[in-house]
Amino acid sequence: MNLKTGKLKKVLCVIFALTCVVSAISFGFPQASADQSLEDMQRQYDELEKQIQENEEKLGEVNSEIKDNKTKLGKLNSEINAIESQIDILDSRIETLNGNIKSIQNTIDTTTNDIDEINKQTEEINKQIIETNELMTETRALLLGRIRENYMAGEASTLEIIFSSNDISSYFARKELMSRVSEKDASLIQNLESKIEELDSLQKQLAENKTALEAKKTELGTQIVSLNERQTDLESSKSVQEGKKSEVDEKYKEVQGVINELDQDSEEYKAAIKAQEKQMEELEAQIDAYIKANGSSEGDTPDENFNNDGKMMWPVKGKTTVTAGFPSYPSGGAHWGIDICVCDSSGSTRDSNGNSLSLGKPYYAAQGGKVIIAHNDGGWNSGFGNYCVVDHGDGTMTLYAHSKYLNVSVGDVVQKGQQLGAIGATGNVTGPHLHFEVRVKDANGNVTRVQPLNYVSCPGY
Ligand SMILES: [Zn+2]
Repeated sequence: MNLKTGKLKKVLCVIFALTCVVSAISFGFPQASADQSLEDMQRQYDELEKQIQENEEKLGEVNSEIKDNKTKLGKLNSEINAIESQIDILDSRIETLNGNIKSIQNTIDTTTNDIDEINKQTEEINKQIIETNELMTETRALLLGRIRENYMAGEASTLEIIFSSNDISSYFARKELMSRVSEKDASLIQNLESKIEELDSLQKQLAENKTALEAKKTELGTQIVSLNERQTDLESSKSVQEGKKSEVDEKYKEVQGVINELDQDSEEYKAAIKAQEKQMEELEAQIDAYIKANGSSEGDTPDENFNNDGKMMWPVKGKTTVTAGFPSYPSGGAHWGIDICVCDSSGSTRDSNGNSLSLGKPYYAAQGGKVIIAHNDGGWNSGFGNYCVVDHGDGTMTLYAHSKYLNVSVGDVVQKGQQLGAIGATGNVTGPHLHFEVRVKDANGNVTRVQPLNYVSCPGY
């Protein structure tokens, strides 16, 4: 991604620049006490602080992008789940349908077997009918012979009756003829007659059964056609859902890829910030070394002229609020002071027109002392802009940064509550505020940046 490459380049540039700065410092800064060295250190220190802040902002952006993408991923996940459950439903419907089709097909197979069986039986019966008919023809010929013999004996009308009858059954139906044949012949004929009736009725029954089965088979065939149509519909819905799912899967993969890249970016920023913080610690140690060599120590008696009463005052009058605390920004980056803003009774640091309430407001020395550093040139000054440091003579030092202007210069003795300058937005700031720090040098010469709120407390609003 272009974005990523851009970010990475910036990070690498920052690391490179920092490496150069730190190498320069470690070579160029002996335990010297010249004002110029302190200025250089302060400038480098502030430059680092600014870069750390920038990187933290970038990290914040990357993290929020990661969060957005994770939300997106969650949505895609639930979309995939919904589609998958739709596919499951379709699958189970198709399965049921397949079962139905299979069972109907079984019934059709059984019916077809039944029809085949009936056809066989019908064939058998037809054969029997043919045989019986043949037997009847023979019997008729036999009877005709006998009747002819009787006719020779003088019974003329019978022959006419016989020959006028084309049909065997109607022939046998004529009761009067029965009296003309022998008892044995009559019984033979009766047997044949009843057998033919029986076969006729069987044939009729089989034909009926066959018709019923064929109707059933046709009906089942129709059902299968409609079930097959339904199954085709379901299969096509399923393939639509599967298409949708693969689209969503694709999107999911894309978002996951972006998240992976962002995670990597985030790791790189974190590493850059860590490296910068380490270098800044080194710089800080050197600044502390300067104070160790030049500042007052705990246990020292302050100059009488300082009128140090041992209790610092809040450096801004009126309603105020702390917008960033010690020892780190809300984002986690190091912040060795507190940021003080003037506010209204609701805590807002701006008026209804959006203008800062702090800009131009005076700030005061928290305690009497001597100004040991003062920059009032309106320049960047390593990010502190116009700033000053006051040594209170008892091992405590206070620093005031981002001023619109200063009222004091190096060497001035100031009284507690005396105006040092006006709140401004010079140096590295997002808006006007007073950056206030307290440093302590103990009797052994160890210098530490301490929680300013242990020395002063915000009156609030
Ligand atoms: Zn600050």
